[in-house]
Amino acid sequence: MSAPIAAASPHVMNTYGRLPIAMSHGRGSRVWDVNGKEYLDGLGGIAVNTLGHAHPKLVAALQEQVGQMIHCSNYYHVPGQEVLAAKLVEITGMQNVFFCNSGLEANEAALKIARKFGHDKGIAKAEVVVFENAFHGRSIATLSATGNPKIHAGFEPLVPGFIRVPRNDMEALRRATDGNPNITAVLLEPIQGEGGIHEYHADFLQQLRALCDERDWLLMLDEIQCGLGRTGKWFAHQWAGIQPDVMSLAKGLGSGVPIGALVAGPRAADVLQPGNHGTTFGGNPLAMRAGIETIRIMEEEQLLENAAQVGQHLKQALEQAFAGIEGVKEVRGHGLMLGVELSKPCGALLEQAAERGLLFSVTADRVIRLVPPLTLTRAEADEIVAILAPLVKEFLAA
Ligand SMILES: *Cc1c(COP(=O)(O)O)cnc(C)c1O
Repeated sequence: MSAPIAAASPHVMNTYGRLPIAMSHGRGSRVWDVNGKEYLDGLGGIAVNTLGHAHPKLVAALQEQVGQMIHCSNYYHVPGQEVLAAKLVEITGMQNVFFCNSGLEANEAALKIARKFGHDKGIAKAEVVVFENAFHGRSIATLSATGNPKIHAGFEPLVPGFIRVPRNDMEALRRATDGNPNITAVLLEPIQGEGGIHEYHADFLQQLRALCDERDWLLMLDEIQCGLGRTGKWFAHQWAGIQPDVMSLAKGLGSGVPIGALVAGPRAADVLQPGNHGTTFGGNPLAMRAGIETIRIMEEEQLLENAAQVGQHLKQALEQAFAGIEGVKEVRGHGLMLGVELSKPCGALLEQAAERGLLFSVTADRVIRLVPPLTLTRAEADEIVAILAPLVKEFLAA
């Protein structure tokens, strides 16, 4: 690698482990650092840059929007909110939408709905079922819902009202909840992202849907990372043929412009009333335009199909490249949300990969996570494997 490009800043709070690289600009699935070195982007800003970088149609729309209006308050109607909400209702089959600015904010809204839904029917101490290994955000409530002790550490006391159970285990869920009248909701990511790319089985999700109906619980899905086309359908839960009552979205929805959305079905759509919830920036015209154009361009360029096809090609190429390699435990995931689990911690790969011009992340210590732009081409997928495979083999042999 060329000389270190960026050192820790004394003025920016030191909350991230960063590589010594400073990014300058991007185009499609490529980004360049301030020294002009080029990288293939297998991370997409952590499943955010749906359309890749600097998509010409998105750039033009946002430039127009910035010249027209960036922000106005929710004291007034914002026409873009109606347009984006109607589109989200169309592709989800749900009923209405609350707009916010990030993933954790969408989950906060979901958790407030879970509590209010309980209060409205006389449950004063609502409890929500959550899962081991889950990630729902870094606010006090969403970190409490998160199933990772490292994220809790130092921030106790946690918010009460969560019951944690293992993934895909209906018996354990029943044991932990039978006879408890305070439960009002279940919250899960159909594919756990930060937890290491772990899928829920379709039959578990179907049984859970039935249990929620039977017990009058809200089924709340966090599709912040796995939703919005990443798996090849609009939403990951659609593979299981179920319908949630509440769904949180963020990351890929604005293709890089901060936005969050909480979509509600009929049982949850009227729980929050004027005065119950709000946010200054939520639903601002710039973010709405980003969401509208992202979905429009996804349809125009058939990016669901692309995510499915290129994702399957990439998964197969990874499986082939790592077949029989001791130390590679599994290649898993769906569409363009893939993980390669190694038998040992592999954070050290990040800098080595960047030196060779490839970006990705490592989650859960030993899982290489690939969540590239949904515009990724087959040739770019092959290029990812051509860099990654020898690197991992050398790393495992060392
Ligand atoms: C990223 C993420 C969040 C948190 O989103 P922020 O925008 O970082 O607050 C919540 N849930 C899941 C599944 C995520 O991947």
